[in-house]
Amino acid sequence: MARHKGKGWHGRLLAAALGVTVAAAATSVWTAQAESAGGRPPQARVSAPAQDRTVAKVAADIAHASDRGPRGVNITIDDGPDPVWTPQVLQLLEDNGAKATFCMVGTQAEAYPDLVKAVVAAGHRLCNHTVSHDTTMDTRSEAYQSQQILDAERMIIKASGGVRPQYYRAPGGAFTPYSRQLAASRGMRPLGWNVDTRDFERPGVDTMVATVKKEISDGPTVLFHDAGGDRSQTVAALGEVLPWLKQQGYSFGFPVR
Ligand SMILES: [Zn+2]
Repeated sequence: MARHKGKGWHGRLLAAALGVTVAAAATSVWTAQAESAGGRPPQARVSAPAQDRTVAKVAADIAHASDRGPRGVNITIDDGPDPVWTPQVLQLLEDNGAKATFCMVGTQAEAYPDLVKAVVAAGHRLCNHTVSHDTTMDTRSEAYQSQQILDAERMIIKASGGVRPQYYRAPGGAFTPYSRQLAASRGMRPLGWNVDTRDFERPGVDTMVATVKKEISDGPTVLFHDAGGDRSQTVAALGEVLPWLKQQGYSFGFPVR
Protein backbone atom coordinates (compact mmCIF):
# COMPACT_ATOMS: atom_id res chain seq x y z
CA MET A 1 0.00 0.00 0.00
CA ALA A 2 1.77 3.15 -1.18
CA ARG A 3 0.45 5.44 1.45
CA HIS A 4 3.61 7.49 1.63
CA LYS A 5 3.04 8.50 -1.95
CA GLY A 6 -0.56 9.48 -1.38
CA LYS A 7 -0.54 11.79 1.59
CA GLY A 8 -0.26 14.96 -0.44
CA TRP A 9 -3.26 14.40 -2.60
CA HIS A 10 -5.32 13.03 0.21
CA GLY A 11 -4.70 16.30 1.99
CA ARG A 12 -6.06 18.12 -1.00
CA LEU A 13 -9.00 15.74 -1.09
CA LEU A 14 -9.86 16.60 2.48
CA ALA A 15 -9.91 20.26 1.59
CA ALA A 16 -12.14 19.62 -1.39
CA ALA A 17 -14.45 17.33 0.54
CA LEU A 18 -14.93 19.98 3.15
CA GLY A 19 -15.63 22.66 0.63
CA VAL A 20 -12.78 24.79 1.82
CA THR A 21 -9.99 26.08 -0.35
CA VAL A 22 -7.11 26.09 2.06
CA ALA A 23 -5.69 22.67 2.80
CA ALA A 24 -4.20 23.84 6.07
CA ALA A 25 -7.61 24.85 7.36
CA ALA A 26 -9.01 21.42 6.55
CA THR A 27 -6.16 19.72 8.33
CA SER A 28 -6.79 21.65 11.50
CA VAL A 29 -10.49 20.83 11.40
CA TRP A 30 -9.80 17.13 11.10
CA THR A 31 -7.21 17.25 13.83
CA ALA A 32 -9.66 18.88 16.18
CA GLN A 33 -12.34 16.31 15.37
CA ALA A 34 -9.93 13.46 15.79
CA GLU A 35 -8.79 14.66 19.17
CA SER A 36 -12.28 15.13 20.48
CA ALA A 37 -13.29 11.69 19.23
CA GLY A 38 -10.17 10.02 20.56
CA GLY A 39 -10.72 11.33 24.04
CA ARG A 40 -14.05 9.62 24.54
CA PRO A 41 -14.81 6.06 25.46
CA PRO A 42 -15.75 3.82 22.52
CA GLN A 43 -19.38 3.50 23.61
CA ALA A 44 -19.90 7.24 23.27
CA ARG A 45 -19.07 7.27 19.57
CA VAL A 46 -20.13 3.87 18.31
CA SER A 47 -23.64 4.10 16.96
CA ALA A 48 -23.94 0.92 14.87
CA PRO A 49 -25.43 -2.11 16.59
CA ALA A 50 -22.84 -4.41 18.11
CA GLN A 51 -24.92 -7.47 17.29
CA ASP A 52 -26.57 -7.90 13.91
CA ARG A 53 -27.50 -11.40 12.88
CA THR A 54 -27.98 -10.35 9.26
CA VAL A 55 -24.25 -9.59 8.96
CA ALA A 56 -21.92 -12.44 8.06
CA LYS A 57 -18.32 -12.08 9.11
CA VAL A 58 -15.76 -12.12 6.28
CA ALA A 59 -12.00 -12.62 6.12
CA ALA A 60 -9.97 -9.82 7.71
CA ASP A 61 -6.95 -9.88 5.42
CA ILE A 62 -6.76 -7.32 2.63
CA ALA A 63 -8.40 -8.50 -0.60
CA HIS A 64 -6.60 -8.08 -3.88
CA ALA A 65 -8.04 -10.88 -6.03
CA SER A 66 -11.04 -10.71 -8.36
CA ASP A 67 -14.08 -12.92 -8.17
CA ARG A 68 -13.77 -13.29 -11.96
CA GLY A 69 -10.51 -15.16 -11.63
CA PRO A 70 -7.14 -14.50 -13.26
CA ARG A 71 -8.57 -12.39 -16.12
CA GLY A 72 -10.88 -10.44 -13.84
CA VAL A 73 -10.42 -6.73 -13.19
CA ASN A 74 -11.84 -4.90 -10.19
CA ILE A 75 -12.54 -1.27 -11.05
CA THR A 76 -12.70 0.73 -7.82
CA ILE A 77 -13.96 4.32 -7.64
CA ASP A 78 -13.10 6.23 -4.48
CA ASP A 79 -14.09 9.22 -2.36
CA GLY A 80 -17.52 10.02 -3.82
CA PRO A 81 -20.27 10.12 -4.57
CA ASP A 82 -20.03 13.46 -6.32
CA PRO A 83 -22.87 15.15 -8.22
CA VAL A 84 -20.67 16.16 -11.15
CA TRP A 85 -18.44 13.14 -11.65
CA THR A 86 -20.28 10.08 -10.36
CA PRO A 87 -23.02 10.24 -13.03
CA GLN A 88 -20.37 10.45 -15.75
CA VAL A 89 -18.50 7.47 -14.33
CA LEU A 90 -21.76 5.52 -14.07
CA GLN A 91 -22.53 6.24 -17.72
CA LEU A 92 -19.10 5.04 -18.85
CA LEU A 93 -19.42 1.86 -16.82
CA GLU A 94 -22.82 1.21 -18.34
CA ASP A 95 -21.57 1.92 -21.87
CA ASN A 96 -18.86 -0.68 -21.37
CA GLY A 97 -20.90 -3.27 -19.53
CA ALA A 98 -18.63 -2.88 -16.52
CA LYS A 99 -19.38 -3.26 -12.84
CA ALA A 100 -17.32 -1.42 -10.23
CA THR A 101 -16.88 -1.02 -6.50
CA PHE A 102 -17.53 2.46 -5.12
CA CYS A 103 -15.60 3.30 -1.94
CA MET A 104 -17.74 6.04 -0.48
CA VAL A 105 -16.94 8.65 2.14
CA GLY A 106 -19.71 8.78 4.72
CA THR A 107 -20.32 12.50 4.50
CA GLN A 108 -20.56 12.30 0.71
CA ALA A 109 -23.03 9.42 0.89
CA GLU A 110 -25.11 11.35 3.38
CA ALA A 111 -25.10 14.44 1.15
CA TYR A 112 -26.00 12.58 -2.07
CA PRO A 113 -28.22 9.61 -1.22
CA ASP A 114 -29.78 9.55 -4.69
CA LEU A 115 -26.34 8.91 -6.18
CA VAL A 116 -25.71 6.09 -3.72
CA LYS A 117 -29.00 4.53 -4.76
CA ALA A 118 -28.12 4.99 -8.45
CA VAL A 119 -24.81 3.19 -7.92
CA VAL A 120 -26.59 0.27 -6.27
CA ALA A 121 -29.38 0.19 -8.86
CA ALA A 122 -26.80 -0.16 -11.63
CA GLY A 123 -25.44 -3.31 -10.02
CA HIS A 124 -22.27 -1.88 -8.52
CA ARG A 125 -21.06 -2.63 -5.01
CA LEU A 126 -20.49 -0.32 -2.06
CA CYS A 127 -17.34 0.01 0.02
CA ASN A 128 -16.96 1.89 3.30
CA HIS A 129 -14.23 4.57 3.02
CA THR A 130 -14.82 6.04 6.53
CA VAL A 131 -16.69 9.15 7.61
CA SER A 132 -14.07 11.78 6.94
CA HIS A 133 -11.17 10.23 5.02
CA ASP A 134 -8.49 10.61 7.67
CA THR A 135 -5.31 9.11 6.22
CA THR A 136 -3.78 9.00 9.71
CA MET A 137 -6.35 6.43 10.83
CA ASP A 138 -3.59 3.99 11.69
CA THR A 139 -2.20 6.34 14.33
CA ARG A 140 -5.55 6.97 16.03
CA SER A 141 -7.25 5.32 18.98
CA GLU A 142 -9.43 2.28 18.51
CA ALA A 143 -12.40 4.38 19.61
CA TYR A 144 -11.73 6.83 16.81
CA GLN A 145 -11.24 4.09 14.24
CA SER A 146 -14.49 2.40 15.21
CA GLN A 147 -16.38 5.67 15.05
CA GLN A 148 -15.01 6.36 11.57
CA ILE A 149 -15.91 2.90 10.29
CA LEU A 150 -19.20 2.24 12.04
CA ASP A 151 -20.64 5.71 11.54
CA ALA A 152 -19.74 5.57 7.84
CA GLU A 153 -21.35 2.14 7.62
CA ARG A 154 -24.53 3.56 9.09
CA MET A 155 -24.46 6.62 6.79
CA ILE A 156 -23.93 4.53 3.66
CA ILE A 157 -26.65 2.02 4.56
CA LYS A 158 -29.10 4.83 5.24
CA ALA A 159 -28.24 6.59 1.97
CA SER A 160 -28.48 3.38 -0.07
CA GLY A 161 -31.86 2.47 1.33
CA GLY A 162 -30.57 -0.48 3.29
CA VAL A 163 -27.84 -1.92 1.07
CA ARG A 164 -24.71 -2.73 3.02
CA PRO A 165 -21.16 -1.85 2.02
CA GLN A 166 -19.37 -5.14 1.31
CA TYR A 167 -15.83 -3.83 1.67
CA TYR A 168 -13.77 -1.48 3.81
CA ARG A 169 -10.94 0.54 2.34
CA ALA A 170 -8.88 2.59 4.76
CA PRO A 171 -8.15 6.12 3.54
CA GLY A 172 -4.70 6.10 1.99
CA GLY A 173 -4.44 2.43 2.87
CA ALA A 174 -4.05 3.28 6.58
CA PHE A 175 -5.31 -0.07 7.82
CA THR A 176 -4.65 -1.45 11.27
CA PRO A 177 -5.20 -5.01 12.50
CA TYR A 178 -7.98 -3.58 14.67
CA SER A 179 -9.77 -1.79 11.80
CA ARG A 180 -9.50 -4.83 9.55
CA GLN A 181 -10.99 -7.08 12.22
CA LEU A 182 -13.75 -4.62 13.00
CA ALA A 183 -14.71 -4.21 9.33
CA ALA A 184 -14.58 -7.97 8.75
CA SER A 185 -16.86 -8.56 11.74
CA ARG A 186 -19.38 -6.29 10.04
CA GLY A 187 -19.18 -8.14 6.72
CA MET A 188 -16.83 -5.65 5.07
CA ARG A 189 -13.77 -7.27 3.51
CA PRO A 190 -10.69 -5.03 3.78
CA LEU A 191 -9.90 -3.88 0.25
CA GLY A 192 -6.57 -2.81 -1.18
CA TRP A 193 -5.47 -1.98 -4.71
CA ASN A 194 -2.84 -3.13 -7.18
CA VAL A 195 -2.85 -0.40 -9.83
CA ASP A 196 -2.82 3.22 -8.70
CA THR A 197 -3.67 5.50 -11.63
CA ARG A 198 -2.69 8.48 -9.45
CA ASP A 199 -5.61 10.25 -11.07
CA PHE A 200 -5.83 12.59 -8.13
CA GLU A 201 -2.64 14.25 -9.28
CA ARG A 202 -4.10 14.78 -12.77
CA PRO A 203 -1.03 13.36 -14.52
CA GLY A 204 -2.71 13.47 -17.92
CA VAL A 205 -5.03 10.98 -19.58
CA ASP A 206 -2.28 9.27 -21.56
CA THR A 207 -0.20 8.70 -18.43
CA MET A 208 -3.11 7.20 -16.55
CA VAL A 209 -4.02 4.90 -19.42
CA ALA A 210 -0.39 3.85 -19.77
CA THR A 211 -0.20 3.10 -16.04
CA VAL A 212 -3.15 0.72 -16.28
CA LYS A 213 -1.77 -1.00 -19.38
CA LYS A 214 1.63 -1.41 -17.77
CA GLU A 215 0.56 -2.45 -14.27
CA ILE A 216 -2.61 -4.49 -14.74
CA SER A 217 -0.48 -7.62 -14.82
CA ASP A 218 0.53 -6.83 -11.21
CA GLY A 219 -2.99 -7.48 -9.92
CA PRO A 220 -6.64 -6.93 -10.70
CA THR A 221 -7.73 -4.02 -8.53
CA VAL A 222 -7.47 -0.58 -10.17
CA LEU A 223 -7.90 2.66 -8.25
CA PHE A 224 -9.75 5.68 -9.65
CA HIS A 225 -11.55 8.62 -8.01
CA ASP A 226 -14.89 10.27 -8.71
CA ALA A 227 -14.61 13.14 -6.24
CA GLY A 228 -12.22 15.60 -4.66
CA GLY A 229 -11.75 17.99 -7.56
CA ASP A 230 -11.80 18.08 -11.34
CA ARG A 231 -12.02 14.44 -12.40
CA SER A 232 -12.35 15.09 -16.14
CA GLN A 233 -9.05 13.28 -16.75
CA THR A 234 -10.36 10.28 -14.83
CA VAL A 235 -13.51 10.19 -16.95
CA ALA A 236 -11.48 10.43 -20.15
CA ALA A 237 -9.05 7.76 -19.00
CA LEU A 238 -11.87 5.39 -18.06
CA GLY A 239 -13.29 5.95 -21.53
CA GLU A 240 -10.09 4.49 -22.97
CA VAL A 241 -9.21 1.95 -20.30
CA LEU A 242 -12.54 0.12 -20.12
CA PRO A 243 -12.72 -0.76 -23.85
CA TRP A 244 -9.03 -1.67 -23.86
CA LEU A 245 -9.44 -4.08 -20.98
CA LYS A 246 -12.31 -5.77 -22.77
CA GLN A 247 -10.25 -6.01 -25.96
CA GLN A 248 -7.48 -7.69 -23.96
CA GLY A 249 -9.88 -10.34 -22.76
CA TYR A 250 -10.35 -9.08 -19.22
CA SER A 251 -13.75 -9.18 -17.58
CA PHE A 252 -15.05 -6.81 -14.94
CA GLY A 253 -15.66 -8.31 -11.52
CA PHE A 254 -15.63 -7.55 -7.86
CA PRO A 255 -12.95 -8.03 -5.23
CA VAL A 256 -13.21 -11.37 -3.51
CA ARG A 257 -14.92 -11.42 -0.15
ZN1 LIG B 1 -9.71 7.77 -0.73
